Amino acid sequence: MNQTPMPSILHKPEFSQAELVQLLNASGDEEKALFSYASEVKQQHVGNTVYLRGLIEFSNICEKNCYYCGIRRDNTSTHRYCLTNGEVLEAIRFAHENGFGSVAIQSGELSSDAFIRKIDFILKEAMRMTNREIGITLSCGEQSEEVYRRWFESGAGRYLLRIESSSEELYYKIHPKDETHSFTKRLNALEALKKTGYQTGTGVMIGLPFQTAGHLASDLLFMKQFDIDMCGMGPYIEHTQTPLYKNRSELIPLQERFALSLKMVALLRILMPDINIAATTALQSIEKNGREKALCVGANVLMPNITPKQYRDDYFLYQNKPVSQQSNEDDLRFLEQQLKNIGHEIGYFKQGNSKHYRK
Ligand code: SAH
Ligand code: SF4
Repeated sequence: MNQTPMPSILHKPEFSQAELVQLLNASGDEEKALFSYASEVKQQHVGNTVYLRGLIEFSNICEKNCYYCGIRRDNTSTHRYCLTNGEVLEAIRFAHENGFGSVAIQSGELSSDAFIRKIDFILKEAMRMTNREIGITLSCGEQSEEVYRRWFESGAGRYLLRIESSSEELYYKIHPKDETHSFTKRLNALEALKKTGYQTGTGVMIGLPFQTAGHLASDLLFMKQFDIDMCGMGPYIEHTQTPLYKNRSELIPLQERFALSLKMVALLRILMPDINIAATTALQSIEKNGREKALCVGANVLMPNITPKQYRDDYFLYQNKPVSQQSNEDDLRFLEQQLKNIGHEIGYFKQGNSKHYRK
């Protein structure tokens, strides 16, 4: 009775596509065995330290029109903003002084010179201000190799660009099929990031309309094959002002998207034991302690939001995105306690670089 289910699959060094599908469909005891094995792998390779990246939602102005995203170009009911240099640097100072170790600057995608220069200026200032102590992740979409190099040289060490789906067919069901939303361009951008020397991160949305367990299994194999250093993935959550909203009746229930997301995190940890995996905000929007659950099954990075409060409602990618009413300091103390409750501790004043990258 106490036999661990599916031991022969779980303990194999590699999984086939079919085995991954089987594990993604696991429930009950099988699911428990998957989670407990992933947690063991995590303990062994990255331990129970959680690294923080203070999330700065830089701007919700975007040139793109992704079918799922609330800040897409054609959503005219969004109030658009861009933080000032001073506001971004103040957030970075807060993160640095409070031991976050790293920040992540995320933004709608823009290709203008002004945008490129502004990011560049902030990177240089942040390096100067913190004596190069702060780690910076950028998540500012597809840019030319030259821009990626410029930002890398100015101080960004990591870049997160989700592939969203590694299936070209599914990619074009959730993006317009045109020059600005080219699947090939996205793949090339990921290659360019790696070549430039960034710790390169990608990820997917989980529970998209048209998506099957087969797609998700392929996503996991894609991440392994691409040899990523970090991953941020989470449930797809619909937004009324987007084209994909019309497909809402085809979606699996939120709770199932949540459970599937946890299994994706667990499987990726088993497949890639030493990478950094974020417990994403979208998980928290379905379950209050969703991020903590992800940490227990394999994630090791958290991204507390440190965007100035008055802008947070406008960075509205999906419905029910959680917005804290507390101060950043109170949020941090609360988080620390939550993590203690699950036997984890914050890696204060550490950049928490991907072990995989260092190798
Ligand atoms: N513009 C950049 C970064 C900001 S968007 C980019 O697209 O790369 C950051 C991430 O938010 C996207 O990669 C996408 O995976 C996620 N996102 C957007 N809309 C979402 C939704 N409706 N549900 C869940 N995640 C969403
Ligand atoms: Fe813009 Fe990123 Fe949203 Fe696409 S996902 S519309 S690129 S912010």
